[in-house]
Amino acid sequence: MRFPPRLQQLLQAFRRLPGVGGKTAQRLAFHLLEHDRDGARVLAEALQAALHEVVRCSRCRMFAEAEVCGICSGPGRDGATLCVVESPADVMAIEESASYRGLYFVLHGRLSPLDGVGPAEIGAEQFASAVAAPEVREVILATSATVEGEATAAYLAAMAQQYGKHATRIAHGVPIGGELEYVDSSTLSRAIAGRIAVEQGSQDRA
Ligand code: ZN
Repeated sequence: MRFPPRLQQLLQAFRRLPGVGGKTAQRLAFHLLEHDRDGARVLAEALQAALHEVVRCSRCRMFAEAEVCGICSGPGRDGATLCVVESPADVMAIEESASYRGLYFVLHGRLSPLDGVGPAEIGAEQFASAVAAPEVREVILATSATVEGEATAAYLAAMAQQYGKHATRIAHGVPIGGELEYVDSSTLSRAIAGRIAVEQGSQDRA
């Protein structure tokens, strides 16, 4: 049998979520409709409000509810270092490790030409203006240890070096293929502390 159209629509909406298939969509939708209509209302309102209020910080592209996020505008941050990560979850992981007081740049992905993710999608232009800021001295490339993550790091390191900035790559303890957000705090702290300089290509050392 087919479900009524509205219910059908709801199931399809749940299936858009990562990792949610038909069975899970049904379980979630039925749970809300049968047992937790208040919860459903809270969820719907929270989604609406977040869609309306949450934007990307104009400087670092982290989620923000103002033009500039709490980290960029926060006191006590060291503007000399810029840590480049793939996702807002990575920012949260590094913040929780309490081992870093600099600023961030969030790519919201990594270079993957086959999936249509190029420099524009990872905010390369905005990255250039962030890196060009005179107070920035070091760019820490904290992209994942995947093939795309490495390619993205190399691409952005070359850009940073064009602006005469020192580029480093986090190294120790982050497993190959490892997503930063799943690495524990102390490993992450060591990875940042033990970062290594990115070799410059054919360019002269700035
Ligand atoms: Zn920001």
